Amino acid sequence: KATRVSVIIIGAGMSGITAGKTLSENGVKDLLILEARDEIGGRMMTHDFGGITIEKGANWIEGVNGPNVNPIIPIAKEIGLVNDRSDFENITNNIYGANGKVDLEVAEPANKFIEDLYESSESLALRLTNDTDVSVLTAQRFYGRFPVTPVEMALDYWYNDFTSAEPPRITSLKNTQPLPTDAIFGDDVYFVHDPRGYKSVVHHLANSYLENKNETITDNRLKLNTLVNKIEYSKEGVEVTTKDGTVYTSDYAIVSVSLGVLQSTAIDFVPDLPFWKLKAIYTFDMAVYTKIFLKFSKKFWSSGSGNKFWLYADERRGYYPIWENLDSEFPDANVLMVTVTDEESRRIEQQPDSETLDEIMGVLKNMFGKDVPTADDIYVPKWVADPLFRGSYSNWPVGAEPIVFQQLQAPVENIYFTGEHTSELYSGYVHGAHLQGMSIANSLLDCKKNQKCAPTAQVYDN
Ligand code: FAD
Repeated sequence: KATRVSVIIIGAGMSGITAGKTLSENGVKDLLILEARDEIGGRMMTHDFGGITIEKGANWIEGVNGPNVNPIIPIAKEIGLVNDRSDFENITNNIYGANGKVDLEVAEPANKFIEDLYESSESLALRLTNDTDVSVLTAQRFYGRFPVTPVEMALDYWYNDFTSAEPPRITSLKNTQPLPTDAIFGDDVYFVHDPRGYKSVVHHLANSYLENKNETITDNRLKLNTLVNKIEYSKEGVEVTTKDGTVYTSDYAIVSVSLGVLQSTAIDFVPDLPFWKLKAIYTFDMAVYTKIFLKFSKKFWSSGSGNKFWLYADERRGYYPIWENLDSEFPDANVLMVTVTDEESRRIEQQPDSETLDEIMGVLKNMFGKDVPTADDIYVPKWVADPLFRGSYSNWPVGAEPIVFQQLQAPVENIYFTGEHTSELYSGYVHGAHLQGMSIANSLLDCKKNQKCAPTAQVYDN
């Protein structure tokens, strides 16, 4: 058994590291951070591919140029993180189908229809009373017509699934349109491309309170390669057991693992978490969003302004639909990125990468003709299979009321919960994870120092 500390934080992603910073700045320095991986950053994670450093997880600082400043922007500026505004323009000119480029006569009216459809669902969202919600698809039906052709489906995917990672049939209308991130922080986004990675934002926060040498953390309050598999809690305190059998004890714990991990049986809570907590955990969705990377020996596409994103409109909705070339960020790398989500992500995770490459080459040949050269290399992240994440980020499904968030973040005895999935306004985002880390640490401090403890079990028990 190790020495008892005030707070054990489980998980060193954005949320856990931010929680530790807030505690530390408020005088709680006897803390311990337990992280299963060999580095901090969680879903902000780089991968070396095709001679460049790509972002396997979070890539964009989302919510830029709005009425309020996204808290990630000042940090990114302070460390000089390279990021550029993404160029989403001209999408109608970049739609491809089974027989090559789609004519503007088809693409333009389809885009106008989907844009109008999106706006009409947004106005329906504003008409919903507090206690009602419908799916985005329900709202689309009110419009009288919904996407049916491959081009309409690809554009529908671009406006909806590309953000929420789940189809309109599943996503809550009331809570995603208008999207709080866009309304509060702005609808522009910055694409991070820096050899240090987007994770350097988390490193910067960590270095402000954890001892480090040349930016490498040496503080023994951070334990890497430490997988937690049991959390026992009672009025007397918390006992956290790791895979190697070590038991760490504390007064409080903050659990920052992903919703997907909470939905799995990876961590054994003793006693079992109460029914209301489990119901909230199981009600919310852990979506899957997969960026597949491809390296080519030469470019067979046109780059430059207005050519950044392309859509592939297949008969099967969501079949390798969104393409982005990384030319402006890495001019000589010849790397393409294709995004899939939800069932397609799950399906692709199950097959060998060579089969995925064959499917992708078939799609590229449909788009650009039979002379397209085969990619030299492919990288397919497997978010569902990864026991430390079990998905990519949370999405608000129809039927989950806002009380679910209060329940997701409410403590159970002395166990606090943070992470992107506990953010009512910004779930799914880096800034959501950051703001929740602060907020949950503050709520723990309020309990510890002022005996003002957040409502726990008794409020939600039935
Ligand atoms: P995590 O980052 O998951 O941190 C939790 C930590 O807990 C991890 O380090 C994990 O290793 C650790 N852990 C898990 N289980 C255990 C255990 N049993 N014991 C010990 N440690 C454990 N957001 C944006 O804002 N913009 C984007 O462009 C964007 N794109 C994304 C693309 C993808 C593919 C993915 C996956 C995510 C994306 N996100 C994006 C979401 C963003 O990455 C997350 O919201 C945010 O990083 C979550 O931080 P967190 O601290 O809540 O969780």
